[in-house]
Amino acid sequence: MAKHLYLIALGSNQRHPRLGSPRQVVRKAIALIDGSLGKVKAASAIFDTPPLGPSRRHYANAAIVLKSKLGPRKMLDCLLATEAMLGRERRGAPWGARVIDLDIVLWSGGIKANRRLQIPHPRFRSREFVLRPAAKIAPDWRDPLTGLNVSHLLARLTRPRPLSK
Ligand code: ADP
Ligand code: MG
Repeated sequence: MAKHLYLIALGSNQRHPRLGSPRQVVRKAIALIDGSLGKVKAASAIFDTPPLGPSRRHYANAAIVLKSKLGPRKMLDCLLATEAMLGRERRGAPWGARVIDLDIVLWSGGIKANRRLQIPHPRFRSREFVLRPAAKIAPDWRDPLTGLNVSHLLARLTRPRPLSK
């Protein structure tokens, strides 16, 4: 019985030797997740995010709503295994950065907090590249810690603010 719903964030900023561009890596990750980890109920478009910080690589970002019978610990294990499957395609290659990042952002069960796994994801409220795709597919999903839904969190983050003096 599929009783869990997850909001998952996907990101890639590296080409894959076989799959190609970050956008194609994200597309492949969604295809791998769908069917093997649960049923993808909704998928956002894949967004192009200019790099933050010193890197020049653009990110491809997306979000999905996943229905699954897997509980959160098992889900994390499976997402990490999927990351490994995509990232370790070419053995011996110097993979410093991961080709794909798969994060659990929200879970229908609410809050989970231990050393390995924190749900809601601790940094998602300040990440426009998570909130923007998420708002396309799950605008009304409420963050159990702030009580704000995804579209409110996005509005709060992107609202124009007066320049500080
Ligand atoms: P980030 O996604 O913030 O860039 P990483 O992907 O490098 O960081 O972090 C991976 C580790 O984060 C995982 O091994 C996992 O134990 C931990 N983690 C804690 N909470 C979550 C979550 N909600 N989703 C995914 N990973 C999480
Ligand atoms: Mg991660």
